[in-house]
Amino acid sequence: MKLSKSFFLLVILIVTVSSSFAQNDSLPHFGAPLPIPMYLAGNFAELRGGHFHGGMDIKTNQIEGIPVLAAEDGFVSRVKISLGGYGNCLYITHANGFSTTYGHLQRFNDEINDYVLKQQYAQEKFTIEQFFLPYQIPVKKGDIIALSGNSGGSGGPHLHFEIRKTKGSIAQNPLLFGFDIKDNISPTLKNIGIYPMNDTSFINGQNSPLMLPLVKRGSSYVISSKTKLKARGVIGFGIEAIDKLNGSNNVCGVYNVSLFADSNLIYSHQMDEVRFENTRFIQTHVDFYEAKKNKRKIQKSHLTTYNNLRIYKNVQNKGLVYFSKYGHQMDYSVIDVYGNKSTVKMDIAFDSNNYQPEMKTDSFTLFVYKQNGTYESDELKVTIPKYSLYENLEFTTSNSDTLPQGVSKVHFVQDLYTPLQKKMTVTIKTDSVAQEKGNKFFAVSLNEKLKTIAPEGGKYENGWVTFRTRSMGPYTILEDTVPPVIKPVNFSTTTPSIRNKKQLILKAEDAMSGVKTYNAYMDGEWHLLEYDYKTNLVWINLDHHLPSDGAHKLEIKIGDSVNNFKTFTFNFIW
Ligand SMILES: [Zn+2]
Repeated sequence: MKLSKSFFLLVILIVTVSSSFAQNDSLPHFGAPLPIPMYLAGNFAELRGGHFHGGMDIKTNQIEGIPVLAAEDGFVSRVKISLGGYGNCLYITHANGFSTTYGHLQRFNDEINDYVLKQQYAQEKFTIEQFFLPYQIPVKKGDIIALSGNSGGSGGPHLHFEIRKTKGSIAQNPLLFGFDIKDNISPTLKNIGIYPMNDTSFINGQNSPLMLPLVKRGSSYVISSKTKLKARGVIGFGIEAIDKLNGSNNVCGVYNVSLFADSNLIYSHQMDEVRFENTRFIQTHVDFYEAKKNKRKIQKSHLTTYNNLRIYKNVQNKGLVYFSKYGHQMDYSVIDVYGNKSTVKMDIAFDSNNYQPEMKTDSFTLFVYKQNGTYESDELKVTIPKYSLYENLEFTTSNSDTLPQGVSKVHFVQDLYTPLQKKMTVTIKTDSVAQEKGNKFFAVSLNEKLKTIAPEGGKYENGWVTFRTRSMGPYTILEDTVPPVIKPVNFSTTTPSIRNKKQLILKAEDAMSGVKTYNAYMDGEWHLLEYDYKTNLVWINLDHHLPSDGAHKLEIKIGDSVNNFKTFTFNFIW
């Protein structure tokens, strides 16, 4: 009797599990958005810096210019051009309740491009966003809507493709919509993280997180170290797991992670959909310190912080395990969207030793995550809006000497390993001797070796520079009085006849505060200038708004973040 009951349960479990993977028959099917076999460079909800990947990255054989096809009948509802993010991006709304997104495009088809150009010239701006009504640009499944490219924040040519629930614009896992993609490779499990959750919790006698590399033994994974594990107090767990798909060596993300304590499910998450407004909570879903410090993406299996993600299921006691008298057997089961599974088991004994909690003596300012927080000294002010932190923070700062090009001290605002959900405001006092050039001051974020990570802009007022940022860590104020540098790439000012050219390409760079404005003027009239921040290239296309026959003057004006400008002039004959 007992046996047959569990057998039936098993059958039901297998049926429900397999039907929820890859071929969800309640969801509509879409056509492939490229006319080539589909291999993925990235999949849905893969762990990126600051967000879960919102779609899938389809390989384009390392080239640009492959026709991009409408995945279903519908209408082009939105076009967006941004410097970072999805670059040239197009959205189609379908009648089935879903919309599709096509990112990093090289260009749109002629019909769509005409709308875009009109808008760019009307706004005299390269980056635009435009919404369309259903009758304006209807499309049929398989229509060529664009050419694939590498625009925006793309690390190589590919198509970024998303399926969203139109209502609420919620990103869906596209692999649940029946695409022709093969995967019979189980996830790779790389590391387990074990986290003592308070002062009186210990793993192997330590009050700090323990990372354990995993190795494959037969069909499952084991901890590679021979050390026996023993724990005491409240313990959380986490796992680093990746997935690969057939025919591609790219690292993708896993679909479902489940954690069992003594065979009871105590935590799981599943990547069916992610809301864009919640995607930044990835910073608390993963072990942020490990991600930043060691580039290890450990997904935590305990929920102890401010976290609005809705991917969690069956979470018992926040996923925490108590070692108060007995040990526990912990099992992870990790599944990809096609149902391929990897597991790891570990036995953790109860540690009966009584350890003394460490005494902390550092002084700090307590920031409560639900409340606005401020810190103020003679040289630094920090304001953190409520719900910017994922948990209460013992906030500390320190400072060190001014850098060679600096006009303020270096201020360590907490550290690089404390995540922020929203922007904080930082105000730094500058050196009084340099202040007559205050309008050329800007903030930079620094790494631990005090090398610049990125210019952060900022506004100078009465000896202080104020800027907003979503990262903690070291900051300083620099001065930029040097205008950008502009150089022609595919033409020469000494050869004024350019009738055979399709584009004029130039390199525009600013070593300090960074390129902020870029405009072209043809005989004094604004002309579209495109810009790719990754390559520092700007270009004008000579296939629209053509000059009349004869002599013309092209001016290209580049400005940096603190309004140093450089104008490049080219007199040419068309
Ligand atoms: Zn992508």
